[in-house]
Amino acid sequence: MKVLVINCGSSSLKYQLIDAQTEGVLAKGLCERIGIDGRLTHKPTGKEKVSLEVAMPTHTAAVSLVLEQLTDKENGVIASLDEIGAVGHRIVHGGEKFAEATLLNDEVIKEIEACNDLAPLHNPANLIGINACKELMPNVPMVGVFDTAFHQTMPEKAYLYGLPYEYYEKYGVRRYGFHGTSHSFVSKRAAEILQKKPEDLKIIVCHLGNGSSITAIKYGKSVDTSMGLTPLEGVPMGTRSGCIDPAILEFIANKENLTLAEVTSVLNKKSGVQGLSGVSSDFRDLGAAMDAGNPRAKAAIEVFCYSVAKYIGAYTAAMNGVDAIAFTAGVGENDGVVRALVGEYLGYLGVTIDSEKNKVRGEECIISTEDSKTTVMVVPTNEELAIARETVALVK
Ligand code: AMP
Repeated sequence: MKVLVINCGSSSLKYQLIDAQTEGVLAKGLCERIGIDGRLTHKPTGKEKVSLEVAMPTHTAAVSLVLEQLTDKENGVIASLDEIGAVGHRIVHGGEKFAEATLLNDEVIKEIEACNDLAPLHNPANLIGINACKELMPNVPMVGVFDTAFHQTMPEKAYLYGLPYEYYEKYGVRRYGFHGTSHSFVSKRAAEILQKKPEDLKIIVCHLGNGSSITAIKYGKSVDTSMGLTPLEGVPMGTRSGCIDPAILEFIANKENLTLAEVTSVLNKKSGVQGLSGVSSDFRDLGAAMDAGNPRAKAAIEVFCYSVAKYIGAYTAAMNGVDAIAFTAGVGENDGVVRALVGEYLGYLGVTIDSEKNKVRGEECIISTEDSKTTVMVVPTNEELAIARETVALVK
């Protein structure tokens, strides 16, 4: 079966067509500037990349163009749309309703709509993607795979905030966590690499990318995670602040004459390593600036690594131990400097990083030494493949 995986944002749409049998990517691409003008980048495996400037007034128009490219005589990879057996949609927020991937029918779509409040930037865009696919492929089964679902196993003590309980009851204010598809995929793969069952391991997954989150996975289940009600909590990220003293909001609002919404926007878009360094949100630029002697870039990297290390400490305590620590996503998979700096804090776990192995980029590798008491590894994430697998499991 071939599965189309869709990750739909407010003005963009990423896609991959995956052969479920071989798990190979047949084609992937990106629609950008939907509703503005429109740009499509389509990469069929084994063929040249195609870039088109083409009008995309709506998401339905964007999906329609994607389907055209997939079946195109020259750039296509399938003869007809009949070859697409299912569509898997990434959905950011499933609230407390969705603890696993779910077949999308009208009732489920309504329940996802009810979670819009919790992810006002993401869920409505995800729903637009679902509706566009429904319109163009009405008979193809569709599955929703939620970023929050994997974390629904967290115990109450991990997900409740120290706030009036009625906010949880009335508005669902609690920790939900994100990147769940990635944390689940990476922890399972880490167990496979270690030739153990997830049920026998305590794993900490550090998903470090533009957005970063750390998860404690005890015996195969998420028991705590650093992102919260929204993806703003946790470690400082590319442009997001991560955890700060909540009183800073009012303090900065008064000092800078900003509304609460404006301060929140600063916390989302102008903070993190970008805000600290004044250089970039991209760790490649930060590393280069640090090497060139920029003290703020150095401080940004140090704040980031220190924060990651503190979460590892907290989650080691939460699980009463840790067997393996896995780094994943853009920074985690590629940035040996960050991994080494985090590793320096882990001496109490008996961790030693092998500096040669730590040069690895984007490949599975155990980067701790053989005598390291806790295994540290790089495990590339593959959210699209994880979505395709969950989709196939439901429609089979
Ligand atoms: P992601 O959100 O997982 O796509 O990660 C994106 C981030 O990964 C970028 O903003 C970069 O900071 C980082 N990244 C990607 N490649 C590298 C690399 N070779 N070295 C350091 N950081 C990288």
